[in-house]
Amino acid sequence: MEDQIQKLLKQLVSINSIYPNENNLVLLLEKMFKSDYKITKQKVENKRSNLLVEKGRGKQTILLYSHLDTVDIIEGWKTDPLDLKVIEDRAYGLGSWDMKGGMSTNILSFFNSQPKNFKLKMVFCVDEENISKGGFKLMNSKFMKDVVCVISTEPSFFYGNNGVVIGRPGRTVYQMEITGRPNHYALYDHRIDINLFISEFIKNLRGLYKKNGNKKQFIFIRKINSKTIGMSTPHIINLELDSSIIPPKRSDQIKKEIENIAIKVNTKYSNYFKFKINYLKRETPFLESYEINKNNKYLKILSKSINKITKSKAIPYFRSSIADENIFGSFGKTVLSIGPTGGSAHAPNEWISLSSLEKLYNILNDFLIRVDKSYDLGR
Ligand SMILES: [Zn+2]
Repeated sequence: MEDQIQKLLKQLVSINSIYPNENNLVLLLEKMFKSDYKITKQKVENKRSNLLVEKGRGKQTILLYSHLDTVDIIEGWKTDPLDLKVIEDRAYGLGSWDMKGGMSTNILSFFNSQPKNFKLKMVFCVDEENISKGGFKLMNSKFMKDVVCVISTEPSFFYGNNGVVIGRPGRTVYQMEITGRPNHYALYDHRIDINLFISEFIKNLRGLYKKNGNKKQFIFIRKINSKTIGMSTPHIINLELDSSIIPPKRSDQIKKEIENIAIKVNTKYSNYFKFKINYLKRETPFLESYEINKNNKYLKILSKSINKITKSKAIPYFRSSIADENIFGSFGKTVLSIGPTGGSAHAPNEWISLSSLEKLYNILNDFLIRVDKSYDLGR
């Protein structure tokens, strides 16, 4: 199997799919599936499409997820980033770990599994490394309706083949405008100093910090600008607040809490200041947090498969970064990430462990067989 995986990975890596130019990779995959499976090209924007593939039948669907895009090539590669170079167990190449390795195991598992009791779907999304345009397009489409479990083969940062990502924080950027009245320079008074108000407000944001194991909620100012006209006192401040939000909190609740802090501090200034807080505008929504219950049926099945293949226990854990999985999870889908091991994601000389990739393939296959059996028993 290792030869087949390596051959496919080499092919996937050889096609440049640096965001936003995923199209050539879509064309290759399209050819791979066209004659035997139902495929759909889901247009996301001009020359950018997700590719959706499906096989089998059943009311419920298991979905194998990967993203098509990689980040750009940066200075420092010792080999040609688009030509997979294998040295012992390590295969070097752009996107080898993030996430063409996982993509290759998804494809081979899809080809080699014959589920009787469920539908097997597979998606390849654009724009994950940017603002998840592909992920949102997919989530808002009919294709997701019958999906009961999403398996993502994003790189495993911790615990090797045993780690299962079951949650991630959300991230939202808010913008805020605070206004007072411009006053003549000579009439300066600390009780109407908008910068004193804002400094106190920022200190009070500490009330939103939370740490629970490796779950971290925080908020910080990423931009701040205070304006003054001529020889007056400053009267307007614009700022952007960047937040990491842990479940079960959502971005609208944090927005409310930020507002409440401002209201409270303002009382000390006799409610002199006015403020507005909004989400920073961008083309897609910011990603919300999620966390899968430890008793989740699919997590239990996947844990059994991991145990069987690796001969040691699965380690479900909460990861601190944000990804397309947030979209599926926060829309209520079970989403489990299990990936290969490797190194230097988003950096020169990115590599993937071929043996861990083979293990991942075996885990996926075992998982799909077990899920099929569980539906058999459930009938
Ligand atoms: Zn990725």
